[in-house]
Amino acid sequence: MDHLTNRLEPPLQHILACAAALAATVDATLWLVGGVVRDLLLELPIGRDIDLAVEGDVTRLAPLLATTLGGTITARHPAFGTATLAVDHWIIDLAQTRTEYYPQPAVLPVVQPAPLTTDLARRDFSINAMAIRLVADDGRLLPMPLFDPLNGAVDLAARRLRLLHDRSLRDDPTRILRGVRLAARLNLTPEPATAAQIETALTNGYLALLTPERIQTELCLTLSEPDPAAVVALADRWQVTSHIIPGLHWSSALAERLARYRHDEAGIAGLAPAEPVIAGLLLYDLSEDDLQAVRQRYHLPTPFRRLLIELSRLRSLAQSITTTLSPSQLDALLHSYSTATIAVLHYAATTSTASLIARYLREWRPLRPPLTGDDLQAMGVAPGPQLGRLLRDLRAATLDGTVTDRVTAERWVYQQLAAARS
Ligand code: ATP
Repeated sequence: MDHLTNRLEPPLQHILACAAALAATVDATLWLVGGVVRDLLLELPIGRDIDLAVEGDVTRLAPLLATTLGGTITARHPAFGTATLAVDHWIIDLAQTRTEYYPQPAVLPVVQPAPLTTDLARRDFSINAMAIRLVADDGRLLPMPLFDPLNGAVDLAARRLRLLHDRSLRDDPTRILRGVRLAARLNLTPEPATAAQIETALTNGYLALLTPERIQTELCLTLSEPDPAAVVALADRWQVTSHIIPGLHWSSALAERLARYRHDEAGIAGLAPAEPVIAGLLLYDLSEDDLQAVRQRYHLPTPFRRLLIELSRLRSLAQSITTTLSPSQLDALLHSYSTATIAVLHYAATTSTASLIARYLREWRPLRPPLTGDDLQAMGVAPGPQLGRLLRDLRAATLDGTVTDRVTAERWVYQQLAAARS
């Protein structure tokens, strides 16, 4: 078999070889761990996030690596023995190998340095608990065998999701959400003991013990999954969604909305930030009460809060939109909504109104009238309500094609001023 690390991009292989050689000079050993090892085995593309377990002193090693590799340290937590390095476009997480102790369910653990084997055993699933030692010779990585004391490779080949110990979900219930994401992405099935543990954890209400921030982090990760609808479908099947977002269920309408977003035939996906749009498409069917519960439970960033508020009004708005509306009438209905909300409306709408909304987003919303407020003042309009009204009406006239350029705009303004005087 081709050696696993040979599948990494050559510049990354070079960075890791340099890192391994440097680590050896301070008596540290580096191991490639976690999702990268799993994805190398699956022959999947490797992302920018590289996890390295360090048997040795991370506090000493991190600045040495940053200086020699020409990277920067972007985060450092000496108490936890972790540091993050940005090198080229890679984000390299260094974490001293550790054991973890959870004083109570769902709280952050107390950590202590420990050998790699112990570190692997404290991880979430067997398929994420494999490692490859990084050893370099002459600037190149040497082929090293997979270190797999918990038999993750066998589980991976059988597409099996397996927790590593009985208290795993009590210690850290976010693992239920990590499990759903992984299982949906990689088409995994929980083995019987793991399925039973998930059921018990849900019955015991462990998810409710997590802080909203920790659930939110997992929700954001779901939004950036390649297929968020598949994650929701599985979460619904595992009866997880009601613990996180009551009222959220997978439905064929939800899947269709997300499929329309993914195919983006109208070419509008780039006009609005992706995550609020996906969130809006997932939450579109929630009742007003359920939307309010989401707003109250989670401390969401502004674009998401705005979207949730607007979502409440979206269904009645959708009914007012018909293909007989002129561009300015459509603008009057939509201009106060965020681009993300309008994109949600587009993907949730029927074909004919969807193309109207797409055209609004692409062409009409960004349209600026040929004259600005300064131009109107230069034409003798005093600052005040009349100026605001004229600007609004000028935009409408431009949208509907009555005004096409500066000349027609100036003529239009003089006509309005004359009409106001008479
Ligand atoms: P992804 O492809 O989703 O990024 P990943 O496995 O690389 O997958 P990370 O969140 O970067 O995900 O975590 C890196 C590794 O750290 C995991 O593979 C796992 O070994 C371990 N890990 C992460 N979160 C937990 C957790 N909550 N409990 C136990 N181990 C965890």
